[in-house]
Amino acid sequence: MFSKGLLSCYYKPMVENSNNSEWRTIGHELVIGALTNHIMSGRLRHAYLFSGPPSVGKSTLATDFAKAICCTDNLGVPCGVCRPCRLISASKHPDVVEINPNTSGKSIMRERLSVDDIRSAIYRFTLNPVELNRRVAIINNFETASKLASDAILKTLEEPPGETIFIISTDHAASLAETILSRCVVFRLNPIPFTVVEKALINSWGANDQKARFLARISGGRIGWAIRLLSDDKTLEDRSTKLIELINLLSLSRVGRFAYADKLRKDRQQAVKTLALWEGWWRDVMISSTGTNSPEISNVDYKTEIHFIAEQLDTTKIANTLLAIRKTQKDLQKNANARLALEVLMLQIPTVSSLS
Ligand SMILES: [Zn+2]
Repeated sequence: MFSKGLLSCYYKPMVENSNNSEWRTIGHELVIGALTNHIMSGRLRHAYLFSGPPSVGKSTLATDFAKAICCTDNLGVPCGVCRPCRLISASKHPDVVEINPNTSGKSIMRERLSVDDIRSAIYRFTLNPVELNRRVAIINNFETASKLASDAILKTLEEPPGETIFIISTDHAASLAETILSRCVVFRLNPIPFTVVEKALINSWGANDQKARFLARISGGRIGWAIRLLSDDKTLEDRSTKLIELINLLSLSRVGRFAYADKLRKDRQQAVKTLALWEGWWRDVMISSTGTNSPEISNVDYKTEIHFIAEQLDTTKIANTLLAIRKTQKDLQKNANARLALEVLMLQIPTVSSLS
């Protein structure tokens, strides 16, 4: 089943991005410049891969890029008003396929890109385009592809059918097969500066100055997450709950930690998101520990706790914890045994006496 676009469809800005009116993507100017250059110089490749942390703007950029490729203005940017631009925005263009993971499982939730969706898209690529002179496939969260789905894409990338362009995005390029990576033009999308997020929240999403500054900071430069935090109070509450659980975990026994791992493993994608939050938190602890600029801390509302934990641990332990969290994220993306991966992580997280 093809599903609608992710962030690009669910969250509409109040006004268009004033800096870059044709692109709805916020930040990532260098990548946008390179993509425009590929279009205008006639050097479009068969496959592009956007890699970067969750909610950093990859799927929005993928949609923008598809529009820029198909736009009737032929200026290397999406005009936003021509028929292809409008149909792609609505996920309704007959020559542009968007594939997102499906959620499955009852006791253990899992998001997977289905091999059937991938094969169906590939079949459509063997037919002539309906309106354009090429077909475009947008594939989001490719790290969730099954082995079969990944193999099907690889085969297509090796022998691309006609004029087709794949725009693939992933939260975790390291979990993809080298054979896939080597066939794509890879662009790394990093978190964008806090000030850019803050400005976008005020100008495009109607946030007040104080809230925009706070959300930009705690989002760690992940614009999609900042927008979700602004639009949905529950997301903000969930973040607090998870951070408090993380703090409490530090003083728990092995039994308590394993019980928490058991809870986490039941929703693999949520576990990955929780670990992304933890990674940001431990990065803050590292900043605090090394005495670098404390204004760079993202989780500003937990500064006291971050400083307290940083004082209890040496930098090697903090660095090892960060590495362990990143490795666990990678293992979960690779569909490793979630219980085992999370239990190993629980043993690697240092013990810190309770704050209370
Ligand atoms: Zn257009």
